[in-house]
Amino acid sequence: MKKILLALLLMLSACAPQSINNTDTFQGEGFGKQGKIIVDVVIKDDKIEHIELVKHSEVPGFSGKMIQLADEIISKNSIDVDTIAGATLTSQGFIDAVKDALTQAGITQEDLMNANMQEQQQKIIEQHSDLVIVGSGGAGFVAAIQAKQLGFEKVTIIEKMAFNGGNTRMSGGEYACYNNWVQESEGIIDSKEAFIEDILISGQGRSNETLVRTLADHVLENAYWLRDEIGVQYKNEQSWYGGHRVARTLWPVGDGPAYVNTLAQKAEELGVEVIYNTKAVEIIMENGQAIGIKAVSDGNSLHFYGDSGVILATGGFSANVEMRQQYNTQWPSLDASIPTTNSPAIVGDGILMAQAAGANLIDMDAIQLYPINNPATGNYYFVDYARLIGNALLVNKDGERFVDEKETREIISRAAIEQKDAMIYEIIDDQVAKSMNLEEDYASEIARCLDQGVLIKGSLKECAEFFDIPYETLAATIEHYNEMAAQGVDTDFNRTDLIPIGDGPYLMFACIVSVHHTMGGVQIDENAHVIDTNGNIIPNLYAAGEVTGGIHGANRLGSLSIPDTVCFGRIAAATAYNEHLKK
Ligand code: ADP
Repeated sequence: MKKILLALLLMLSACAPQSINNTDTFQGEGFGKQGKIIVDVVIKDDKIEHIELVKHSEVPGFSGKMIQLADEIISKNSIDVDTIAGATLTSQGFIDAVKDALTQAGITQEDLMNANMQEQQQKIIEQHSDLVIVGSGGAGFVAAIQAKQLGFEKVTIIEKMAFNGGNTRMSGGEYACYNNWVQESEGIIDSKEAFIEDILISGQGRSNETLVRTLADHVLENAYWLRDEIGVQYKNEQSWYGGHRVARTLWPVGDGPAYVNTLAQKAEELGVEVIYNTKAVEIIMENGQAIGIKAVSDGNSLHFYGDSGVILATGGFSANVEMRQQYNTQWPSLDASIPTTNSPAIVGDGILMAQAAGANLIDMDAIQLYPINNPATGNYYFVDYARLIGNALLVNKDGERFVDEKETREIISRAAIEQKDAMIYEIIDDQVAKSMNLEEDYASEIARCLDQGVLIKGSLKECAEFFDIPYETLAATIEHYNEMAAQGVDTDFNRTDLIPIGDGPYLMFACIVSVHHTMGGVQIDENAHVIDTNGNIIPNLYAAGEVTGGIHGANRLGSLSIPDTVCFGRIAAATAYNEHLKK
């Protein structure tokens, strides 16, 4: 029964792989109701290509049944098929004949299944959109909304997680903006130049001033766009973050989650397509320009073509320990012992994809730590709003102050890692807790932290004992601070808003530093074009948000991340649209 080739194959089988890589024909036989059934089976690359019914003695009408079975076996590439009712013995004989031919070929049912799986994996699913955006965080949603508002028909966001929002969802959603409506109502004098200057000072000479000015040009109109066109609700109060010379930070009701949900809802209303569980892995380039994104989802390979452009909005790389270590020059170590406040998804995918497509990376060494995080999780404390907006003290394990509590996150982080075991504690008095409604607004966080043993509510003595801090020193620290507050001068750390610490019960919690923001990333110009290593635009490729570098230089001020994502998210979509009109 075997063909000559099979004999050769068998002779070589000791050294040859079992799979058939060329087209070969094998004959097999089975027994039907009336006698022998003989088939020729054509196999290519472990796939059944064709089955020829060579000979049989079944009733003539059953040839059709056997051909029907052959079709099913070929289309499934499997001999795991059911017999046909009314022709059971004939069917079984036919299936046995095919099985025999496969045995001659050295192919098992499992080989067929493996070949099927491989083929499935190799199947590339293709889709065309006007614009493909990678990442459904703040920048991604803003870009998508703007793109639809301008007139793009099909806008697709690819998101690798099963949910949207990225770090933006995990943030407070705060938005720094000069001359905003809350400032106006509170009579706070601010200006565009003051805003620019504060960013440049914090950037320590490393910010790209053109990008900073672009941000400043749009930040106020974007605040109105968010409030009036997108529907983001803001509180009537604002916060004052370290490094900003005045209070200028708008604060959405419901923090980051509500902010992202509002963006997502608007995107949905406008018909933006969001494809979840789909990870972008490569920018598809053709003749030097970006034409789409290769992605993977559930073992499938997908090609998303962005006919008018691709926008990267994948965030930074704070959760990528290897990249942190590779680029860090400013901190003693950013190894895995330092946690991150970020979503685990924020591992620099967009930066690496852009780099592979020729993009220039800048400021990659500028990595920001955040000082007030839960030692059990690495995430920041929402109750820390007390320090940012109201009043709190920071002390070390010896119960001593070590920094101006209102300083920038960079300065506090640098001071914090110098303290014993790099562990610090925040203390909030009862008056602040009550006036800010902390225990109600952050009830679930407080309950979780109590369980984790990182927070306590009690008298000063109880707090000190809980954290094993010398009570006398802690009490003396507060007394001394209150004396300075009464004098209006912090002779120790130059804090300017010296509000005394009042009575307990106190909320006190342990804090460690965490990697929070990566200032570096893909270089862009003021139109959100990605720039290559020769200083040229990469056509059709745009980027916005934390995936980019250059705006914040050495250090990003608090509450400037969202303004950045909104400004350059909108610009990226607008640039893509304008360039599409010119094509
Ligand atoms: P930004 O603040 O810059 O908008 P976010 O952290 O809010 O950044 O959002 C970035 C989003 O990008 C997250 O939802 C994250 O899961 C997503 N993301 C990151 N890498 C990929 C990738 N390779 N493919 C698809 N989505 C990605």
